[in-house]
Amino acid sequence: MFEPCDCGSDLSYVACCGRLHAGTPAKDAEELMRSRYSAYRRGNVAYLMKSWAAETRPVPLSLDPTQEWTGLKIHRHTPSGPDTATVKFTATWRSGQKKGRLTETSRFRREGDGWVYIDGIVA
Ligand SMILES: [Zn+2]
Repeated sequence: MFEPCDCGSDLSYVACCGRLHAGTPAKDAEELMRSRYSAYRRGNVAYLMKSWAAETRPVPLSLDPTQEWTGLKIHRHTPSGPDTATVKFTATWRSGQKKGRLTETSRFRREGDGWVYIDGIVA
């Protein structure tokens, strides 16, 4: 059965963010960004920690179980050097009767075979 990916790509979860959650390194910052959004949707704290730069990673990371992420739109993926990039996105969420949206420009850097999230500026 086709299970669409949480990140809103046209791919299946297994072929898209599921690969990264299973250990395949992200090929670029946008792919990492998508996989982190999917990890938020799935409550995959271990993956969020692993894909977060050691110096900015919150310890412990606790997710709000009432907050449901309902959509992701990538506005721009901008390489800023050979090993750094930014991704601007909007993510929508719902929590009980409340709905909201988060627009952020996130910074990423290459680390090992993949990429990690550093931090972001909320628009
Ligand atoms: Zn995906």
